[in-house]
Amino acid sequence: MPQPSLPVVVIGAGPVGLAAAAHLLARGLEPLVLEAGGEIGHAVRAWSHVRMFSPWRYNTDAAARALLEPTGWQAPDPDSYPTGGEMLRDYLAPLAATPALRGRIRTGTQVIDIARRDHGRLHDGTGRTDAPFVLHVAHRGEVQALEAAAVIDCSGTWAAPNPAGAHGIKAPGEAANADRIAYGIPAVLGDARASYAGATTLVVGAGHSAMNAVLDLVELAKQAPGTRILWAFRRPLGAVNFGGGASDGLAERGALGSRAQALVESGAVTALAPFLIDRIGRDGGMLAVRGRQDGRDTTVRTDRMIVAAGFRPDLSFLREIRLALDPAVEATPALAPLIDPNLHSCGTVRPHGEAALRHPEAGFWIAGMKSYGRAPTFLMATGYEQVRSIAAALAGDWDAAREVRLELPETGVCATEQAPGASGCCAPATRQPALAELQAATAAGCCAPPVPAAAKSCCG
Ligand SMILES: Cc1cc2nc3c(=O)[nH]c(=O)nc-3n(C[C@H](O)[C@H](O)[C@H](O)COP(=O)(O)OP(=O)(O)OC[C@H]3O[C@@H](n4cnc5c(N)ncnc54)[C@H](O)[C@@H]3O)c2cc1C
Repeated sequence: MPQPSLPVVVIGAGPVGLAAAAHLLARGLEPLVLEAGGEIGHAVRAWSHVRMFSPWRYNTDAAARALLEPTGWQAPDPDSYPTGGEMLRDYLAPLAATPALRGRIRTGTQVIDIARRDHGRLHDGTGRTDAPFVLHVAHRGEVQALEAAAVIDCSGTWAAPNPAGAHGIKAPGEAANADRIAYGIPAVLGDARASYAGATTLVVGAGHSAMNAVLDLVELAKQAPGTRILWAFRRPLGAVNFGGGASDGLAERGALGSRAQALVESGAVTALAPFLIDRIGRDGGMLAVRGRQDGRDTTVRTDRMIVAAGFRPDLSFLREIRLALDPAVEATPALAPLIDPNLHSCGTVRPHGEAALRHPEAGFWIAGMKSYGRAPTFLMATGYEQVRSIAAALAGDWDAAREVRLELPETGVCATEQAPGASGCCAPATRQPALAELQAATAAGCCAPPVPAAAKSCCG
């Protein structure tokens, strides 16, 4: 690692970025956390009204708890489910305020560019890997330069939602009608209520965020007559994955999918499936959403849209960093096939560490939500394990970096394209897989490297 006197910069003060800082401190390394938002947990704050589907026991990090406990912090009930707001109030805010962390976080500081000092991306030069990182940050209207020994990018994906357009790019008219389109999960029962009460809303997307948005709208419809909900899926209804229901190791996640499915089946929401959006225009006071339903041109009239179609990583400020990314998923080539929804629907992704997250640029990692690129199913607990392993590697403790210290709950849905009889492939791993093992497992369509036959399997 170049110049140990320089800090390890962590980009983003979300749950994973703050955990990264705690692990670095535990390893005797000096973290500096840079947060674009005015306050820590800026992205979580945006979904503070949403109840999480994982209980507290999965939502806090061990190194973070070690900083919190001496301050008199009371761990929340491990079996209760916080909202994003409670996650902030009862964990992230007290963590950021600990004596160890509070002087090491700079809010209102957005990273806009990263490079290696005196080395453009093309430039090998002498000692590229020994050169410190240079980060340009925007702070109070000025651009400042900082240096770092290593960088862990935990900047999440919240600010880069997928668009409504069928082709993965904004549909013509999507930007022009932005005043009627919300991305993510607006607080339709809270601050945004007036916009949705009594109105027709078209929800786009099939993941947990879309399910949350639909459930909230259905609740609103009970209180505000005239509220109508249309729900557009990319796939035919029979192919939509509503989750593992009662088989999900996270009961609330399973229940969320089951509730959403029941609403579609009961007709409380009108499903458009498959519906691919080609253009968004205006018709009188309403949005006219033109698309193809079952291959036929259709126009849907709606007052508003909620687009909850997943997220993608913002790679724009990493242009001078040598990245290795899977061309489809935009995660590292080692991780991507394990989480690629095209290969398997197994949301039960094995924990993994720095080896699976490594890029050609030594000393640089993407961790947390952003490490999954465009894939869904990221869990905070996965991110905590990632940054534990990265901090161990930065400290030169390779045994600890390779070890796995986490068991993740099963989703209860796992359909891999594996060969029949390969039933242990989704079972828990006992150590960080080597890259070659990850690749071999991937070639077999599995979400984990081979494990003992007796191990528990989610592939059935
Ligand atoms: C609605 C919702 C519910 C979820 N529920 C669960 C759940 O129940 N259980 C679970 O395990 N996971 C859940 N997740 C998934 C995931 O764990 C969370 O998104 C989690 O917040 C990811 O943490 P993170 O630290 O990787 O990223 P984030 O929380 O997104 O934090 C990233 C931070 O980086 C900052 N940032 C971004 N760009 C820059 C920049 N250029 N410079 C400086 N700072 C920057 C952002 O402002 C933000 O504060 C949920 C996600 C969503 C969206």
